Amino acid sequence: MVCSLLLYGLAFACMMWLSVIGYPEWFSGAYVLYAGGISCSIWALYRFQQAKAPTLLLLSLPVLTAFIFEIFIEDLKLRIQVLATFFLFCYFWMLYVLLQRKNRPVRPGAKVMLTGIALLICAMLLRVAFTSTSMTASFQAHAISSLIYSYAILFFALHLTSSGFWLMCSHRADMNAQRMAYEDGLTGLANRGTLLQLMERMLKQSHHHHESISLLMIDIDHFKQINNVFGQQAGDQVLIAVGNVLQESVRPQDLLGRYGGEEFIVVCPDTQPQDAQELAEQLCATIRDSVQARSEFKSWPVTVSIGLCTCTQVHASRNVESLLRKVDLALGEAKVAGRNRTCHYIDHPLRSS
Ligand code: GH3
Ligand code: MG
Ligand code: MG
Repeated sequence: MVCSLLLYGLAFACMMWLSVIGYPEWFSGAYVLYAGGISCSIWALYRFQQAKAPTLLLLSLPVLTAFIFEIFIEDLKLRIQVLATFFLFCYFWMLYVLLQRKNRPVRPGAKVMLTGIALLICAMLLRVAFTSTSMTASFQAHAISSLIYSYAILFFALHLTSSGFWLMCSHRADMNAQRMAYEDGLTGLANRGTLLQLMERMLKQSHHHHESISLLMIDIDHFKQINNVFGQQAGDQVLIAVGNVLQESVRPQDLLGRYGGEEFIVVCPDTQPQDAQELAEQLCATIRDSVQARSEFKSWPVTVSIGLCTCTQVHASRNVESLLRKVDLALGEAKVAGRNRTCHYIDHPLRSS
């Protein structure tokens, strides 16, 4: 977009200068610069929409502009009409790329850009209509000043378009920064900080409503070995797959996040020990049945161990640290008992299954 603004600026400066020194036939260079600006704008929009830009086609826009200019060099009226129609097509192209991905809400930046493109389209439509109806002697006489006037409108519309694009980019940057602060970059789940914050809140709420609350700590078995045998990337894929399975298996009211390296946590509000135990066993079985570490030559079933603990209605003190300590103890017990299993911390005796 910076490139396109530069090219637009250069194009307008050239047009002004050529008009002043009286070489309107050299306008082709300015038009080529202008078309280059349009190409850059469309390319930037494609990039913004994370779509592949048709680079060759975009590069051909300035070439086509020069070609049109040369063909109609003798006929000012036709030249203006054909070039305006050509640019009109480019603006509709820009509009089409902007409006791709219809399911996204239209943000203020996109609205500003839409207004800019609409103005550009109107300016070009008016130009075509104006030249086709009244290419009179008076128009000829005032051609230069009329052009300067219409370029002023174009200049304003182009700035509106570019400002809209900047707004869209800055909104996207804000959203990304927000997401990076709250989400785990690899799995897209809540990160440790978010998890602890929300857990604190859920514990308070459960205490307030005298409800029980359960916590599950899920740890992938022998994950270091998976990394060593299949490689770090395969390990990442396993983390993503486990994250997806957990996401699909927990209830909408449950909180799920990545606690650390290969450890996940699920917080289940209003959940009795028996229901938490069932959920943990189901998660264990689903991951065992559906997640595999793969390489070109072999695959390896992935299993998890789960430590869980429940604060029932009778538990007065509920703090995140003590709950985490308990599930960690239960998880350690599940590992010692042979992995690929769950272990429920029930205050003193640890019961694994
Ligand atoms: P256990 O069954 O006792 O849990 O053994 P383990 O190998 O799973 O546990 P350990 O704590 O020894 O190793 C965890 C490994 O997870 C070590 C670390 O290199 C790896 N790890 C941590 N974060 C990531 C990550 O984001 N991607 C990948 N690929 N590996 C990670
Ligand atoms: Mg671990
Ligand atoms: Mg592990």
